[in-house]
Amino acid sequence: MRSRRLAALAVTMGAVVALLLTACGSKSDEAVGDGLRGVQSSFEGNDGRLKVATTVAPLTSIVLNVGGDRIRIHQLIPDGVDSHTFEPKPSDAKVLSRADLLIMNGAHLEGTTEKIAKQNLPHPEKIYYLADNTLQGDDERSGFLYDFSFPRSEGDPNPHLWMNPLYALRYAELTAQWLGENDPDNRDYYQQNLARFADVLKRIDAAIQQDQASVPQQNRKLLTYHDSWAYWARRYGWTVIGAAQPSDFKEPSAQEVGNLVAQIKKEGVPAVFGSEVFPSKTLESIARETGAKFEDRLRDDEPPGAAGDAQHTYVGMLVEDMRIILTALGGNADETSKIPVANTFERGRSSS
Ligand SMILES: [Zn+2]
Repeated sequence: MRSRRLAALAVTMGAVVALLLTACGSKSDEAVGDGLRGVQSSFEGNDGRLKVATTVAPLTSIVLNVGGDRIRIHQLIPDGVDSHTFEPKPSDAKVLSRADLLIMNGAHLEGTTEKIAKQNLPHPEKIYYLADNTLQGDDERSGFLYDFSFPRSEGDPNPHLWMNPLYALRYAELTAQWLGENDPDNRDYYQQNLARFADVLKRIDAAIQQDQASVPQQNRKLLTYHDSWAYWARRYGWTVIGAAQPSDFKEPSAQEVGNLVAQIKKEGVPAVFGSEVFPSKTLESIARETGAKFEDRLRDDEPPGAAGDAQHTYVGMLVEDMRIILTALGGNADETSKIPVANTFERGRSSS
């Protein structure tokens, strides 16, 4: 009787092991590919890994570089979608209902997503805010910034902290801390991944510091369509002289366009920058009228290339943006372009 039971147990255990192996095999692409391949996990089933929901692509890339292949990730806001006005779908609520935690930017970027998360997460207190744990207050030199598309009168600060690689480093540190708290068995692994990723972020910060100095002093000012460069500019001592997009994310009025044209002429801005996610005929015509060069491929929430490409990462996005901005304004991005863009997390060490 006893041996028969043991034999049955052995068979069951064998089946469980086989199942686990199959599960690991079929899930192996979920977060271990290059770039952001497979970060749309449905969180169905349970393979022992932490289920981490994220919002925009750059934050997802940061979380992936820390969590590596020991977490499952679901990026709620798809690449190339306007994160500022994003409305989650019922299917997002379903995924959130299976998530262990949500790591989001905060600073009022993902209002509706936050609301849906509070209603659907099994543990609604497991919402983690990156921006709000990076900056406090509104000191112009060290706090949140209010500017063109994010005026103080509306109460929503500029949320694009991650465009400054040192704030991205803080985001990675917070992520390692939160993943470790929720999954203590893998705390060391997350810390090791953090160390590797931090090294790249510090290198790109130094490279940008060096490259931006190749731009003539009088050209170190930005006029963009989407207002996402405030924290980058503060880091490197540049000036954002304007952003064409109004705070309601519609197109600027005739009067606002007139003001921008006058400003560009007065400041002698050599180039103006549109973005991938917000194609703007208005900025294009402003450029034509003022004689400024028009570059329309800046990115702040969509990494370049396709899912699975090596450069489809946060670092890849920053490298590409630097190439566009610095060369258009008369400098170069020689040092920045040497930075490795691919994911840096340690692979094949899944504990499940
Ligand atoms: Zn944005």
